[in-house]
Amino acid sequence: MSGFNQTAIINALKAVLPTEGDAISLHEPSFAGNEWTYVKECLDTGWVSSVGKFVDRFEQQLADYTGTKCAIAVVNGTAALHVCLKLVGVEQDDEVLVPTLTFIATANAVSYCGAIPHFVDSDETTLGLDPKKLEFYLEEIAEIRPEGCFNRKTGRRIKAALPMHAFGHPVDLDLLVEVCRRYQLELVEDAAESLGSYYKGKHTGNWGKVSALSFNGNKVITTGGGGAILTNDEQLGKLAKHLTTTARVPHKWSFIHDQIGFNYRLPNINAALGCAQLEQLPGFIKNKRKLAENYRHAFDGIDGVRFFTEPSFAQSNYWLNVLLLDKDFSDQRDSLLDATNSRGIMTRPAWTLMHELEIYKSCPKMDSLNVAEDIELRLINLPSSPFLEGSLCGTDSRNNYVRSA
Ligand SMILES: *Cc1c(COP(=O)(O)O)cnc(C)c1O
Repeated sequence: MSGFNQTAIINALKAVLPTEGDAISLHEPSFAGNEWTYVKECLDTGWVSSVGKFVDRFEQQLADYTGTKCAIAVVNGTAALHVCLKLVGVEQDDEVLVPTLTFIATANAVSYCGAIPHFVDSDETTLGLDPKKLEFYLEEIAEIRPEGCFNRKTGRRIKAALPMHAFGHPVDLDLLVEVCRRYQLELVEDAAESLGSYYKGKHTGNWGKVSALSFNGNKVITTGGGGAILTNDEQLGKLAKHLTTTARVPHKWSFIHDQIGFNYRLPNINAALGCAQLEQLPGFIKNKRKLAENYRHAFDGIDGVRFFTEPSFAQSNYWLNVLLLDKDFSDQRDSLLDATNSRGIMTRPAWTLMHELEIYKSCPKMDSLNVAEDIELRLINLPSSPFLEGSLCGTDSRNNYVRSA
């Protein structure tokens, strides 16, 4: 059996990361493009809020980049998820299949609809929802009735599946699409972490009816706060726009609202930031993939750990790099977290699993969530900002690298 050598692991990190300067955070934004110009334009013209050209432009750029027909910009990724679930018809007391290994927003969006998250296990090769295990599970608990798929145990309708592409790595979508089709489940992708990630050559967020992106400060690109709904269904795209802009019926002056909509529109000033960030996205992805390659090299041959690489069918954005401790060494995780953070290298464990949180403890779940439980014990996220990419490390690379790349 191979050993666990904390010093070797820390040396591998040091070989990849800059050795001088401030502490290295997990993911920092870079504003080396047209951010100042576009934001200044908003300030100069007064168009900072709910009207302005940058929202339309950002949405068009997003649709082009992701290869979707429509993109609808909203205030954050959680709001995007909330509206996605509404759009596919998730209603009060429905169940929605959600991976237990995810950020809280995935489960919360289900709760906002008055629905109940139903937790499923993860796949070791993707870190996301395991479609095969889900298939076996549904065979056991699901029943197809005229009104859709029902959970035999709870009697509730299971309306949708909400996979999440964890740390940017796509889940096995083909198989999941097939399982959803067979069980009449709507597929909604939580693509909050996977902007710039492709499954079999096509951008994530294209497999279900709708999907959600996030542009929070720690994501691949940021608008300060922000998110988007993606869809290839133009009718649904129009409805998404309507619902996220208070459902106001277009008219010169009267205020008629034909549904209880949401005030989820992304302000123009945030969209301006988004336009500038999207221009740089290809460069960010290139650097992030290179950084991941550097990590892979550095950890190659180091006992006790494995650097997680993209599944064979995917091209990942490597949003947050993942180091997995070998099964025998999960008890070393906290000590490694301590050692790295105290040396100014920010590392973090995975999220606490949803089914272990007090607020979601009583929700339905698979009998065994052992893969997610195992991953959670062994996973550590490593610094992943695009400017950390090797040759460009240096004092002011953060603001120069895009131009020099
Ligand atoms: C970031 C994120 C979201 C959305 O977060 P916001 O902060 O609301 O933009 C949703 N799901 C996952 C998995 C995320 O990582």
